[in-house]
Amino acid sequence: PTALLEVDRLRVEFPSRRGTLVALDEVSFSIAPGEVLGVVGESGAGKSLTGAAIIGLIEPPGRIAGGEIRFDGRRIDNLPHDEMRKLRGRHIGAIFQDPLTSLNPLYTVGRQLTETIRVHLPMSEAQARQRAIALLQETGIPAPEQRFDHYPHQFSGGMRQRVVIALALAAQPRLVVADEPTTALDVSVQAQVIALLKRVCKEHGTAVMLITHDMGVIAETCDRVAVMYAGRVVEVGPVQSVIHEPAHPYTAGLMGAIPALDQDRDRLLQIDGAMPRLDAVPPGCAFHPRCPQAMPRCRVERPVMFAVGRAQAACWLHDRSGAT
Ligand code: SF4
Ligand code: MG
Repeated sequence: PTALLEVDRLRVEFPSRRGTLVALDEVSFSIAPGEVLGVVGESGAGKSLTGAAIIGLIEPPGRIAGGEIRFDGRRIDNLPHDEMRKLRGRHIGAIFQDPLTSLNPLYTVGRQLTETIRVHLPMSEAQARQRAIALLQETGIPAPEQRFDHYPHQFSGGMRQRVVIALALAAQPRLVVADEPTTALDVSVQAQVIALLKRVCKEHGTAVMLITHDMGVIAETCDRVAVMYAGRVVEVGPVQSVIHEPAHPYTAGLMGAIPALDQDRDRLLQIDGAMPRLDAVPPGCAFHPRCPQAMPRCRVERPVMFAVGRAQAACWLHDRSGAT
């Protein structure tokens, strides 16, 4: 089975006064057609940047400095701007944290939906209108025929993000990149909107890259998960295996930290210390200063990915080669 998306040793750099910052360092993972891949990690781990690289929206002076991104077998990390824009609207949809960044306040949601549909699909105005109303219905907007003529400000936050989901799916993309799609919403509607995103994408066979800092969301939503730390992927695998048998000590720490429902959701991490800044990533394993299982080699040698059951983890604990 061919992957829909392959991110292959992706490196993203930012120039800074103190030299070059490596914001993504050899990031690799893939997404199969129709699969929901979660990307989880603390703020600053590189999750959003990875998403931005895939949809061609890294802000200069940041740049892709190495590796490749392939979509449907075709390289997309070096596409000219206008080709990337076409690909983004047509084959890769995007959903951001704040629904207002995706919606134009001056146009009705119906107009925005039908315009997006007609840019990418050969449809008449009437057909596009029908499709738009069907999408609003599918995303759980009550009275979609009336809502078609409403402006974004006439929707609640949760309903607005449903409109954004409809918009992201308007051109029948094969992949949707969703970056913290519910973080800006009321806690009371977050779970509903995530469940809706998953259901609608599964129905359409659309793959999802779901970026979140919330391991609970990953557990409920994703088929596989990639765990990021300090600009690197430290573990990737099927969600059940990563959650129940984490192979990387950092993932194990995150797992010990799934908040119970009655606890403060911001207190995610129970690992001592903090993730390093990008200009101070430790040598060897970037996690070694915080790792309860660190060995001498961890301070000097950067771990490679090892297969651990059905998952893979960048950790020397899984080195069976006999090297020390
Ligand atoms: Fe800990 Fe070493 Fe594994 Fe890094 S490589 S997570 S420091 S045991
Ligand atoms: Mg982010």
